Amino acid sequence: MITTVINPARNEWAALCRRNTPDDADIEEAVGRIIDDVASRGDEALRDMALRYDGVKLADIALRADEIAAAADRVSDEVKQAIAVAADNIRRFHIAQQPRAVDLEVMPGVRCLQRPVAIERVGLYIPGGQAPLFSTVLMLGIPASIAGCRHKVLCTPRTSVSDIAPEIIYAATVCGIDRICCTGGAQAIAAMAFGTDSVPAVDKIFGPGNRYVTKAKQLLSRRVAIDMPAGPSEVMVMADHTSVAEFVAADMLSQAEHGPDSQAILVCDSESTARRAAEAIERLRPRLSRSGSIDRSLSHSRAIVLPDRSDMVDFANTYAAEHLIISMERPWEIADAITSAGSVFVGNYSPESAGDYASGTNHTLPTAGWARSMSGVNMDSFYRKITYQQLTPEGLASLAPSITAMARAERLDAHALAVEIRTHKQLLEYV
Ligand code: NAD
Repeated sequence: MITTVINPARNEWAALCRRNTPDDADIEEAVGRIIDDVASRGDEALRDMALRYDGVKLADIALRADEIAAAADRVSDEVKQAIAVAADNIRRFHIAQQPRAVDLEVMPGVRCLQRPVAIERVGLYIPGGQAPLFSTVLMLGIPASIAGCRHKVLCTPRTSVSDIAPEIIYAATVCGIDRICCTGGAQAIAAMAFGTDSVPAVDKIFGPGNRYVTKAKQLLSRRVAIDMPAGPSEVMVMADHTSVAEFVAADMLSQAEHGPDSQAILVCDSESTARRAAEAIERLRPRLSRSGSIDRSLSHSRAIVLPDRSDMVDFANTYAAEHLIISMERPWEIADAITSAGSVFVGNYSPESAGDYASGTNHTLPTAGWARSMSGVNMDSFYRKITYQQLTPEGLASLAPSITAMARAERLDAHALAVEIRTHKQLLEYV
């Protein structure tokens, strides 16, 4: 049974919003060593770590073209068809988000532009430790292709338990990715940041992963851009008397099966809603295969009872969940009041699984409270925005008094001169 907390006082909320993150300093030290090793020994370090962490002896790190081509035959027609449906929805929703160019004459003779320019080299990390997340290939590869990123590198681990899933390779070909490197964990992130003989260096690294992967992205963000910290997955379900206990339970279990670090939080209006959900979890749990992950994840999951709807909303905004499911009466009233969440699932028929795979929204989302300040992967993530301006002689003349007054007040005479030498042509005579 998950722990239930009844009507906690506001000063208890911070503790209840804490994630299950073991000692960060230990992880940081271990990941720091991995990064240094990859920086100095490149592919050799990747091979050593594949053996140490994944129990696999790697020969080639990058897949050969014939291995990539052969993968399609090992994917069932059913999964190919499912990938086609998901890819279509993801493509449509992301094309609709394409950033547009801005071109504005802000005053006569002063024209300002902003143009989105695709990032040239992107690195896509696809988790492969607990489960081969080929859905993540679509979530990262499709927007990268739409944006027109020229070089796309995919890294995912090969392990002693499972080779790289053919579905990952097939999904990569659907997205036009032709560089697939068999390396995982923090070492893969370091390889994409520094470049090795087999793994090209990139300008920005995307993708979710476990705490080693996430820590490596954070440490290397001084050297290379990253999408966001997208670590161990989490869900918050908000429920009231209109929720269906089995739906709530299935949503919490689907989060718990991601891994032992995952967290599922129920926020509900009454003890009876909490009890119905907890009983349904116990009924459904024996049917599921990943009982190890589920048991450990549920041990740090909890139900919070807050009888007041506005307290429920405040708690949800304080937690800032990666996934937020609203199984409540008038769900849009709640959804409209949410200010911090990665992705919101509105109503009883919107399970997280829909967004994880195929509704069209992106499933690479900020965890651990980062939704307070960051968005999930979206089309903007794949662009830089370059601004331009062009002033006519008249435009500069009319702006000159403002520029020179501000420049002089900042005691930057050369800035003022750069304007006056153009607007007061007689100044040229003194040069
Ligand atoms: P992973 O690919 O992220 O990590 C596997 C790698 O971790 C291995 O290849 C190994 O190199 C490394 N590793 C394992 N133990 C290690 C150790 N002791 N020291 C150093 N390195 C070690 O796969 P995973 O473990 O299955 O994790 C996937 C994670 O991604 C889950 O936590 C899941 O919740 C999360 N996820 C998040 C999102 C999101 O958007 N936030 C989406 C999907 C999945």
